[in-house]
Amino acid sequence: MNYDHILIRYGEMTLKRNNRKIFVNQLHENVRAKLHDFPDIKVKANRDRMYILLNGTDPEPILEKCKDVFGISSFSLAIKADNEVDAIKEAALYALENSNAKTFKVTTKRINKDFPIGSQDLNQILGGHLLTNTEGFTVNVHEPDVEIVVEIRSEATFVTSTRIEGAGGLPVGSSGRTLLLLSGGIDSPVAGYLTMKRGVKLEVIHFHSPPFTNERAKQKVLDLVRRLTEFGHTIQVHMIPFTNLQQKIHRDIPHGYSMTVMRRMMLRISEAVAKKRDILSLTTGESLGQVASQTMESMHAINAVSAYPVLRPLIAMDKLDIIPISKQIGTYDISVLPYEDCCTIFIPNAPKTKPRLEKVEFFENQLELEEDFQEALLQMETIEITPNQVEEFQDLF
Ligand code: ATP
Ligand code: MG
Repeated sequence: MNYDHILIRYGEMTLKRNNRKIFVNQLHENVRAKLHDFPDIKVKANRDRMYILLNGTDPEPILEKCKDVFGISSFSLAIKADNEVDAIKEAALYALENSNAKTFKVTTKRINKDFPIGSQDLNQILGGHLLTNTEGFTVNVHEPDVEIVVEIRSEATFVTSTRIEGAGGLPVGSSGRTLLLLSGGIDSPVAGYLTMKRGVKLEVIHFHSPPFTNERAKQKVLDLVRRLTEFGHTIQVHMIPFTNLQQKIHRDIPHGYSMTVMRRMMLRISEAVAKKRDILSLTTGESLGQVASQTMESMHAINAVSAYPVLRPLIAMDKLDIIPISKQIGTYDISVLPYEDCCTIFIPNAPKTKPRLEKVEFFENQLELEEDFQEALLQMETIEITPNQVEEFQDLF
C-alpha cells in the first residue's frame, strides 16, 4: 500500500461546458510538459479529474511542480483502491496511520451511484474500522486534524488526506497568444504572469540599445523570461535593436516629447511583430499614473498609433500590490538588478506628463523614421527559452 497517485481537480474551466474538452486537453499537455523530466510517471485525464500515476517516483518534486500549472484548482496525493469495501478500508487505514493527526473525520463522495453503499453509511463503516484498528485516534467532525476523503468514481476509488491549493486560472494556451512588451523592470514580468494565468500563451518582445545597453541587460531579460517559462513552458523572445531610432528621436524631437515618440515607435514595432506572428494582442506592464508615460494623456497619445488590443493587467494596481507578486513568482530579485534599460538611458529629465496628440504628430512628421523602423524589424533576433535551456537562433522571418 502506498500513495501511488496524484489526483488533480480542475479549476474554472469546469464552467466552460462546450469547450471543456479543449481545456482538459490543454491542461493535460501542460502537465505532461511540466513533468517531462519524470520518465516513469503517467498522466491520465478525463472529464472531471486528472491523475498522475507515480509508478514509484518520489511525489514531492512533482507536487512542487504542480503548484505552478494554471488551470489546477487543487491536488492531492491519493491511494487508488478497487470499488470494494475491504480495499477502501485498507486504503483509509493507511492514510490515517501515515498522517500526523490525532483527530480525524471520514468524508465519502459517492460519484459512482452504482456503488451499493450510501455515503453516510460508508462514513460510519470506515470510521468504525479506523477506530477499531488504530490506537490514539479520535473522531472530530467539526475540526479534525485530518479529513480522509474517499472519492468513489466509476473507474476506482481514490483516498486522500491532504489538499494542496493549485495556481487557479486557465490552462496556458487555451486563451490564445499575446505579445508581451517586457522591459527589465518589476511590472512587465508580473503583467506576463497574470496574462498567462488567464490561459494566454506568451511571446515576448524586448527593445534594447547596444552598445548603450550591454549583454548583461539582455541576459537579465532572458532570465526573467526563464522564470516565466515555469508557468508556461517554451517562450520565444524577440529582441529588437532600438539604438538608431532612439538616437534619432533623442536628437530631433524636443526633449519633453521624446519619450512619447519613443513609446509610439515601440508600439508600432510590437504591432508589426504581432501581426507577422499571428498574435492578436499586446500586453504591457503599465499602471495608471505610475510614471510620465502612464498618465491618461500619455496613454492616449501613445495608443493612437495602433488599433491593436493592448492588455494592461496592472492598470489599476498599486506598486505595493505588484511587488509581492513579483517576489512570489521569483522575478523581483532579477528585476532589481541595476543594468541599464534602453529607456532609462535616453529618457529626458522632464518628459511631458500631458503630451498633446497634435504636437506629438507634428514633431514626428518632421522625422524620417520609416527606414529605421523597417531596419529594426529586419535586425530582430529571436531566442527560444525553455525552463532548462537557452537556444539561440536568428532570422525567424
Ligand atoms: P516595468 O517595470 O515593466 O519596466 P515601468 O513601470 O518601468 O514598467 P515604463 O518604463 O513606463 O514603466 O514601461 C511601461 C511598459 O512599457 C512596461 O511595463 C513594458 O511593458 C513596456 N516597456 C518598457 N520598456 C521596454 C523595453 N525596453 N522593451 C519592451 N517593452 C518595454
Ligand atoms: Mg521600466
